[in-house]
Amino acid sequence: MTQFPSELLGGYRSFMAGRYTDERDRYRKLAESGQKPKTMVVACCDSRAAPETIFDMGPGELFVVRNVANLVPPYTPDGEHHGTSAALEFAVQALKIREILVLGHGRCGGIQAALNPESEPLSPGDFIGSWMGMLKPVADAMLSYTTMTAGERQTALERVSIRNSINNLRTFPCVKILEDQGRLKLHGAWFDISTGELWVMDPQTGDFHRPDL
Ligand SMILES: [Zn+2]
Repeated sequence: MTQFPSELLGGYRSFMAGRYTDERDRYRKLAESGQKPKTMVVACCDSRAAPETIFDMGPGELFVVRNVANLVPPYTPDGEHHGTSAALEFAVQALKIREILVLGHGRCGGIQAALNPESEPLSPGDFIGSWMGMLKPVADAMLSYTTMTAGERQTALERVSIRNSINNLRTFPCVKILEDQGRLKLHGAWFDISTGELWVMDPQTGDFHRPDL
């Protein structure tokens, strides 16, 4: 019989003794009344970039979808299997969330792979190359800036990609209509995992700056 990972069991034990005990009523209410999060976050699968941890959020507060490099694909109703689009549709149409945040992060392996198409692929499988291919035009443009260092390109693409995903969000009719009516707001942010700095995107200019805390 396969053993369930002991570090998960240990973590669960401390969750039950600590956080669950503290928030038992909240969990019970959420179970009875259902979830009503106001914010959806599109974040990377990277184990260092968990939005619930970065924003210190509890149960029921964030609706999160995580994928490689926190990309939002363009609206493509072709009958294929679109996990991120399905989560987006549920969040916007069923949960009626009010804010969507695309959260990028520093040292993103997916972004690095998009900038190094000739190097060893991130994995030998069938999916990552195609998934990151979504960024190819932007990555190619970035690679043409020969005066930039590899590190500068990496940070730049991590941020340009956030704007790109926000533009893709607007290709979904349900998002576009609600945003135009002022009932849904789109945001971008970038988290520096080495320093803990959060940079937020100015919705007008698309530039990133450190917010006043
Ligand atoms: Zn990442």
